Parts: sequence; structure tokens; C-alpha cells
Amino acid sequence: MATVTPCPTCRRDVVWGENAPFRPFCSDRCRLIDLGAWFSGERAIPGRDQSALDDPDDAGGDAPGTGRGRG
Ligand SMILES: [Zn+2]
Repeated sequence: MATVTPCPTCRRDVVWGENAPFRPFCSDRCRLIDLGAWFSGERAIPGRDQSALDDPDDAGGDAPGTGRGRG
């Protein structure tokens, strides 16, 4: 009793068994094609350059030294 399944890539009848190491694909080629479709369909990630953090110059009030000198 053999199970026959159409190859996901080329729709060719694939007889499942020891003779079908690439099942559910009919061949390694179809298997790679399917894998390639996976990779090619991956979302494109644009190189987003994170600009340097803009460090606003903190307005540091120049406090005049209080005359605290003794003696
Ligand atoms: Zn195939």
C-alpha cells in the first residue's frame, strides 16, 4: 500500500516510501525550490541607521561663587 501525494512544487505524483527521501517533494530540487520560496518571501528589513542621540546641551547656569571665604 503506497501513499501517493502530489509534489507541493511541481505537482508530480510522489509515491511515499523508502524510495522518496525528499517527500513530500518529488526530488531534492523541488525541496530546495520550496525552501528558496520561503527565504525569498522573507520580509525585507531596510537598513535603518539609528542616528546618534541628539544630546541637547543642558543649560548649566554658571552660578557665581558665593564669597564664602573666611579669614
Ligand atoms: Zn516536484
